[in-house]
Amino acid sequence: MTTAVLYAQIDWDDDNDAAGERPESVTVQWLKDGKPYGYPIVVSPDEDNEEEWVVDLELTYAEIQEIGRKQDEIAQRYQAGEMSEEEFIEAVKNVISYSIEQESIDNYITTVEIKAIEGAEGETGTSYYQILNTYKKHEHYLTKTEAKDATCTKIGNSAYWTCDQGDDCCGKYFSDAEGTTEIEKDSWILPALGHNWSDWTMVKASSSSQEGEEERICSRCKEKETQKYMYSCTDGEGNTWNRGSKDTFTFTFKRSIRDEVTYDRFSEIQIDGKKVDETNFSKQKGSLIITLNPKYLDSLSAGKHQLKVIFSDGSAEASFKVFSSAGGQHVIPVTGIIDWNHFQTTGIISAFVVVISVLLMMRKRKLIRK
Ligand SMILES: [Zn+2]
Ligand SMILES: [Zn+2]
Repeated sequence: MTTAVLYAQIDWDDDNDAAGERPESVTVQWLKDGKPYGYPIVVSPDEDNEEEWVVDLELTYAEIQEIGRKQDEIAQRYQAGEMSEEEFIEAVKNVISYSIEQESIDNYITTVEIKAIEGAEGETGTSYYQILNTYKKHEHYLTKTEAKDATCTKIGNSAYWTCDQGDDCCGKYFSDAEGTTEIEKDSWILPALGHNWSDWTMVKASSSSQEGEEERICSRCKEKETQKYMYSCTDGEGNTWNRGSKDTFTFTFKRSIRDEVTYDRFSEIQIDGKKVDETNFSKQKGSLIITLNPKYLDSLSAGKHQLKVIFSDGSAEASFKVFSSAGGQHVIPVTGIIDWNHFQTTGIISAFVVVISVLLMMRKRKLIRK
């Protein structure tokens, strides 16, 4: 048995490194059944013989036995004249399911072959892997990819060149037509610009019952975006004020989106349809907080009132009640609770309300008579 170890020999067909581009070492990887076997190995020339670049692969005893047994079989068939020398080499190659790869080297073409060494008379020769590196100055044949501007939503690219023509193309990328400046893949990508939006502008003002609409337009691609919004009272709806009170009386109004503009969009407040002088209330940020002055509240008639806040792009409403004294709710005047118009239009009169109002009217008449 002469086969104990697999080995590979790295040969150079480069006119004794005439171009001076032969590397000082190369990295190889043994493969078993096509998959990496062991770690990558860095191979450099033998210290005593600069032309000897050899790497071994020591097999386990079991592996050697297995290979040896199969090789013997093949050798016997060869010796028996059952196969040609070529068939013999091919069969040996197939027994050994090991192979080797070498990293590619710039300007060299690498081939791997199994070579057989002639054995002495009557003996089987061993085989080895020859990794042959043939020098061939690579010339790039470049394909240009035209530059393309990025848009708001799509990426673009700067011009670049790819060496992708022919079997020995290197697949490298360059930023110039001469192939002098190599660049990384995708380094030519120009990111999408994103829209250049205008400020939001009102399309339709909101009211307390209907959403408003606003839009913005991209100055670059003219894309238009619209959204709906509404102002509403988030705190203070249904407030009650007892005349003479020293409490604060506030309402908060919020915008359903972009609430940060609420304060700046404020223009005036109206109570029961009439503009309220600015001396009668104060405003504060967050979203918009309106505080009615006690003095002003005391001047309002007892009963229900409607507060309307006007913004430059909409409005919102809230209602509140004024009671004539701290005793409050027991002395609501008749006009405050009965909405005669409502009764006329709906025709629905609750028996309870009728009884109450009739009683109250009778009482009023008695008072007048007195
Ligand atoms: Zn190339
Ligand atoms: Zn755009």
